[in-house]
Amino acid sequence: MRESATNTDNARTISLQRAEELKRDAERYLLNAANIYTSIDNHLAVEQRKESILDLLNGSEEDWQDWKWQMRNRIKDAALLGRILGLSQTEVKQINRVGRFYRWAISPYYLSLMEANYHTSPIYRQAVPDILELIPGGTPDPMQEERTSPAARITRRYPDRLIINVTNQCAMFCRHCQRRRNIGEYDVHAATGEINEALEYIAANHEIRDVLITGGDALLLSDAKLEWILSTLKRIPHVEIVRLGTRTPVTLPQRITPELCNILQAYPPIYLNTQFNHPLEISNESKLACDRLVSAGVILGNQSVLLRGINDDAVIIRKLNQELLKIRVRPYYLFQVKEVSGTGHWRCRLEKGMQFMEEMRGHTSGLAVPTYIINAPRGKGKIPLMPGYIIAHEKKDYFLRTWEGEVIQITDDL
Ligand SMILES: *Cc1c(COP(=O)(O)O)cnc(C)c1O
Repeated sequence: MRESATNTDNARTISLQRAEELKRDAERYLLNAANIYTSIDNHLAVEQRKESILDLLNGSEEDWQDWKWQMRNRIKDAALLGRILGLSQTEVKQINRVGRFYRWAISPYYLSLMEANYHTSPIYRQAVPDILELIPGGTPDPMQEERTSPAARITRRYPDRLIINVTNQCAMFCRHCQRRRNIGEYDVHAATGEINEALEYIAANHEIRDVLITGGDALLLSDAKLEWILSTLKRIPHVEIVRLGTRTPVTLPQRITPELCNILQAYPPIYLNTQFNHPLEISNESKLACDRLVSAGVILGNQSVLLRGINDDAVIIRKLNQELLKIRVRPYYLFQVKEVSGTGHWRCRLEKGMQFMEEMRGHTSGLAVPTYIINAPRGKGKIPLMPGYIIAHEKKDYFLRTWEGEVIQITDDL
């Protein structure tokens, strides 16, 4: 009786000591993350910038909420951007020079997230042409998507799923875009005939159970065109799930209207993958867009890109993924930048990406940990990269590493 009481006391003491250790681990992160903000934290400054952009563009609050107004008023004139941000003549010239090679455009909404010290702003750097894009290197299509297209608009790289590319249009053309070759000089939606050919290919191939509609940005199609695609896919019995690839929750949350949500709700199951790359992209507006999508039964995921100088930092990446869970977006992938022309300056060392995985696993919710992916060249597919948890392995003996770096031995005697 007495002995078991002592044991309990002892167990409690050990547990309390362990809890202190864990608390210190969490507190180290909290200290480092204390000065990383979202645009929900910064909403007053965001609203101020919104008012001044509306003034300059002669727009009303109602215009701001209208995604078509946002699209029509995308900023794509360097002199205008210069006036809004107070850029120098040299900067304006450089934007024009790079813009002749790679088109750019920024929705007024996305611009409103841009902080005053724009040179280092993750928003500015993702959206505004940079002279570094002219550094030679890479190729326009390292994935050879053109060679994995068995029908118009389709990329097929895997046994049971494929992509339909429905447009080259975006609310903002990411400077790290992997499909820059398609962006061209004008917005072009796929011709109805081509989408029809893609849908017929899917109907004729019974093993295709997962169809990913992307672009460009899938949600820049009109409601009517989207509904036509979704209803056609719904009538193909072997298509089990549909995915949408869109950055609109980040760059144009006004696109997520109640009318659009009514359409999406009618064709479940729909999985939507978006691309938040930095906590500053999480705003009240993007949260509202995600809330509406979740209410419509859409399942939200995030595909970040690991970008040098934007999110190549263990604390920023962890904060981003934790903040995404708060708005009900589940981190899915973290992508290594591909060898696409004009994007070399974004690439990080693979070791760094794996280090970020290491610093998340165990330290934070498994739900917050995406899979780090590098794409094999020539369309050979996604490869997951992980820190090594198997230290050594001989016959039935495994030496494994815990999330804290302790080596343990397991015998696999089955
Ligand atoms: C990324 C990709 C997919 C989807 O891959 P998942 O790992 O299932 O998310 C499908 N087709 C192509 C061509 C892709 O590049």
